[in-house]
Amino acid sequence: MLAVSDIRLSFRGVRALDGVSLTIGAGETLGIIGPNGSGKSTLFNVISGIYRPDSGSVAFQGRTITGADPRAIVAAGLARTYQNKRLFGSLTVLENVLVPAMRTQPGSFLSDIAGSRSGRDAGEAKAREALAFVGLDDLADTEAASLAYGQQNRLELARALACDPALLLLDEPAAGLSPSERSDMRGLIERIRDRGVAIALVEHDMRVVMQLSSRLVVLDHGVVIAGGTPAEVTENPEVVAAYFGTPIDD
Ligand code: ADP
Ligand code: MG
Repeated sequence: MLAVSDIRLSFRGVRALDGVSLTIGAGETLGIIGPNGSGKSTLFNVISGIYRPDSGSVAFQGRTITGADPRAIVAAGLARTYQNKRLFGSLTVLENVLVPAMRTQPGSFLSDIAGSRSGRDAGEAKAREALAFVGLDDLADTEAASLAYGQQNRLELARALACDPALLLLDEPAAGLSPSERSDMRGLIERIRDRGVAIALVEHDMRVVMQLSSRLVVLDHGVVIAGGTPAEVTENPEVVAAYFGTPIDD
């Protein structure tokens, strides 16, 4: 599904990514963890075409997408959420999801409703299905700015789902949520995974990341320092030193 090979990217001499390689298989959920500033969001920005790396390559479904137009990457089936949400506050909840839904072709995530309709109808059907999936269909006509924080996280997720992704990059989807909202978010991600969507998950909540990921990679200072099953990674002394400074079982 995704092959990231030897990506390097520096910002004014600061090496944000220093030779990162990883793969994600079809339908796999890969957890990407690491301390603040280790390069997780930068890696997502490279994969999604926001940043062009200094060197290295990204291949999605067998095609090189390094440095491609972000809109073309989304249209090819690779969608993402942002750590700092990108909602349009003065648009309605539905309109926020319509924007990406209208831009993308029907794909694997949503049911085939779009095939039989054209243009705006198909986009609106996709948008409404994505909203129903995250439980915001009742709020379709509400201004996005008036949503509670946890609802905004789910709207951000709906925007990505409306793109019909085969691979979804999630950047801290549970950040700032209450324990019960976090558990709802975990359930949502589980249901996306169960529909066969491959997921790259950056998340600080270890309970969420451990339960959802079949495999983890650990970034530290722009380098992959470990990888393996959640159990293998938590037992790796280098990881414990870099990342698990405090007990995870609180
Ligand atoms: P993480 O998401 O793991 O917390 P980031 O990928 O946001 O880390 O940041 C990795 C490093 O790259 C940090 O040192 C950060 O300051 C730097 N960085 C990220 N984006 C930029 C940018 N646009 N300009 C300059 N430095 C950046
Ligand atoms: Mg980040």
